[in-house]
Amino acid sequence: MKIICVGMNYADHNEELKHTLANEDPVIFMKPDSSLLKIGNPFFLPNFSSEIHYETEIVVKINRLGKNIAEKFAHRYYNEVTVGIDFTARDLQNKLRKNGMPWEICKAFDNSAALGQFVPLSDLKENIDNLPFRLDINGKTVQEGNTSQMIFRVNRIIAYVSRFFTLKIGDLIYTGTPAGVGSVNINDHLEGYLEGKKLLDLHIK
Ligand code: MG
Repeated sequence: MKIICVGMNYADHNEELKHTLANEDPVIFMKPDSSLLKIGNPFFLPNFSSEIHYETEIVVKINRLGKNIAEKFAHRYYNEVTVGIDFTARDLQNKLRKNGMPWEICKAFDNSAALGQFVPLSDLKENIDNLPFRLDINGKTVQEGNTSQMIFRVNRIIAYVSRFFTLKIGDLIYTGTPAGVGSVNINDHLEGYLEGKKLLDLHIK
């Protein structure tokens, strides 16, 4: 399986990271399957970074093989979502970005893709384009977003990425993070909520 991620997909987050480019298409990068953090495991701070950021994101799981998927049919290719964390070595990313280098080592390292429990879309009150989500750290809300604030919505993302990559059953799409990203520290307790229901629970070690 592969993990496809969207960068810079919320205007308020782009502002906080001072991205001024208006992107005509989604910004895409990938993580390998070795980046998946198993549910129930803690996240260990890696020794190659002194600034690991959380990025709370809605994650969609692909449930059907597809290539060149039209946007209007994209909703047929997923039926479960959750809240995930796209852990990012921000200090490395800033260095790479400054030098125009690829992002892999700051984004795709081991355990950088955390997931909550997946829930069927049919169990949710709202549709994919109106899902509120948030992250609490040590009981305090640090990030809040709604998929309605995405620059590129889920179906548009699927249409776009499937032009380049065949989507397979089990592939994951991390859809970008709203404003409020920040560092994690040892002993932090992260709890991710979708429509007010806790789906993600992990500790930083
Ligand atoms: Mg992200």
